[in-house]
Amino acid sequence: SGELLRVENLCKAFPLGGGFLEGKKRWLKAVDRVSLHLEKGETLGLVGESGSGKSTVGNLILRLLDADSGSVRFEGVDVTRLKGAELTRARARMQVVFQDPQSSLDPRMTVGNIVSLPLKILGLAKGGELRERAAASLAEVGLGPECLDRYPHEFSGGQRQRIGLARALVADPAFVVMDEPTSALDVSVQAQILNLMGDLQARRGHAYLFISHDLTVVRHVSRRIAVMYLGAIVETAPTEKLFETPGHPYTRALLASVPVPDPAQRRNLARLTGDVPSPVDLPPGCRFHPRCPEAMPCCASVEPPRVELSPGHMAVCHLHNQRNTP
Ligand code: SF4
Ligand code: MG
Repeated sequence: SGELLRVENLCKAFPLGGGFLEGKKRWLKAVDRVSLHLEKGETLGLVGESGSGKSTVGNLILRLLDADSGSVRFEGVDVTRLKGAELTRARARMQVVFQDPQSSLDPRMTVGNIVSLPLKILGLAKGGELRERAAASLAEVGLGPECLDRYPHEFSGGQRQRIGLARALVADPAFVVMDEPTSALDVSVQAQILNLMGDLQARRGHAYLFISHDLTVVRHVSRRIAVMYLGAIVETAPTEKLFETPGHPYTRALLASVPVPDPAQRRNLARLTGDVPSPVDLPPGCRFHPRCPEAMPCCASVEPPRVELSPGHMAVCHLHNQRNTP
């Protein structure tokens, strides 16, 4: 084992079209000082409501978007600074599977060409070898060689997500971003894809950043979980720790919205109320304070500290900082 990826203080803001306020351009802080790390071969779940910035974090790590500031150290190299051939080489080691296989697979290309495209782009294979390696990668996800000359629309949603996985894995990456890979699928098909993801990881040893709004799904696949709210990570913990002793009121509220078999367990959990504030006009102090059932006077003005509650368990909240408690 060992460290594969370390993201530090990653920031990304998007200008709002025509959004001038008092003569100043307005910005949407999609990702605000995000830090996280991944060990080789592990799965980190990144969970949050839609619009929390999870996909933007994935896209920044993959350099599908350029960060405003911060660093992404991958296999010892800061990929935010790479250009040309070096960037291409780093990209060969990082792949992605998107939520909607319908739109992420080019409908005019055969499955064989889709799956082998990363090899072609990276110059890792050519000619007949492209087809052979596409067939081998398809076999790993449970699809036969008869699929090579067919088109994406001839497949079901679950099969298309298998094709997406075959493409992601064909160049033998060390890291794969799974961006809501099962959100568009039926529950039974979801389980098959999640199990397949696990089998492939056990065989090949790549790491996943698993992005989802669904804590139940994230729990199923992740060794550790990071919780995002309005562009920032508010809690990170080993999976069972997060469920047993959540340290952030937002995590507790998220857990309260997950169905549990025993209703008595939900008794003390706060329910989320109020609208999600806009990341354009972030509230001062703690970004969660307008919705937080445990808010204290200082929360509206003082930014909460990042506190380590136990090894690997971190929460950004005044509740854990005696000095700031009024
Ligand atoms: Fe709630 Fe205050 Fe903690 Fe923010 S810092 S989550 S408002 S208790
Ligand atoms: Mg998303």
